[in-house]
Amino acid sequence: MLRLARRLLLALAAGTALSAVPAEAQQAFPNRTLTVIVPFAAGGPTDTVSRLVAEAMGRDLGQTMVVENVGGAGGTLGAQRVANARPDGHTVLLHHIGMATTPSLYRRLAYDPVGGFEPIGLVTEVPMTLVARNNFPATTLAEAVAIIRRDQDKLNYANAGIGAASHLCGLLLMKAVDAPMTTVPFRGTGPAMQELLAGRIDLMCDQTTNTTEQILGHQLRVFAVTTQNRISALPNVPTSAEGGLPAFEVSVWHGLYAPKGTSAEIVTRLSGALQVALRDPRLVARFRELGTDPVAQDRATPAAHRAFWMADIAKWRPIIQAAGQYAD
Ligand code: ASP
Repeated sequence: MLRLARRLLLALAAGTALSAVPAEAQQAFPNRTLTVIVPFAAGGPTDTVSRLVAEAMGRDLGQTMVVENVGGAGGTLGAQRVANARPDGHTVLLHHIGMATTPSLYRRLAYDPVGGFEPIGLVTEVPMTLVARNNFPATTLAEAVAIIRRDQDKLNYANAGIGAASHLCGLLLMKAVDAPMTTVPFRGTGPAMQELLAGRIDLMCDQTTNTTEQILGHQLRVFAVTTQNRISALPNVPTSAEGGLPAFEVSVWHGLYAPKGTSAEIVTRLSGALQVALRDPRLVARFRELGTDPVAQDRATPAAHRAFWMADIAKWRPIIQAAGQYAD
């Protein structure tokens, strides 16, 4: 009888203790498949980076990390999906510089483009290239600029919507050469690349993670890299400054985000897995082939990511306001 009472008391005590702990904390993280939302179409540069990161992070987390492409509206549809997701760390966003330009470009959004997220860590900063269809009648940047100025009414330029890196790069290019072209928006530069390769698009500016192999395979014309220095994956390609366009400089940083309200423990765990992933030899080698490198480990942290993100929002706001560019 006494033993029974003791067992009952123990069971009760255990029950009380368990119910005092929030349901979330009772389960180890992660406890199921994770989803990385990529706010652009499959086959493009953000998608390529995300798949490499997801595979390596999944190994460290002991769970599969799947990539889901939610493209459209310059990356805002995918971002909105994550801002509204359950903040349990199983749904994250891998986005780019658009996280810094959206707050100034979009005056009306169905989510908070800054407060809706917890930064987890930076991933990589990718150079861009100015490329054209293979039969574009120019081989140097100077020749391309002359043709853009002359034929601006006939030429088209692909981008991935307002706020996309290709949009920003196009804006800077058109401003630098003072020649607006017709822009054709896609859900990501993956599908835009197919049109460029088919010769139906004339020009595009895109991350090296989507252009290096086509450039080296002579499937595209390339006029410049949009960085201060030449890059090792494309040593023969001049910088835009060397080609005579000093104001034309963009590099596309990527970062990983959880929805606002995700616990600090889970954000820290995800950041740790990101840091491990960015040292994965397979990932590092593939990034290098695609003309980029992972960020240093101390930048793949929530604090470094937040500081960089906030500084970039402040950097782009006056440029966007001066250009009078709004998505709505
Ligand atoms: N490179 C694209 C952009 O212009 C997006 C993508 O498909 O990754 O922002």
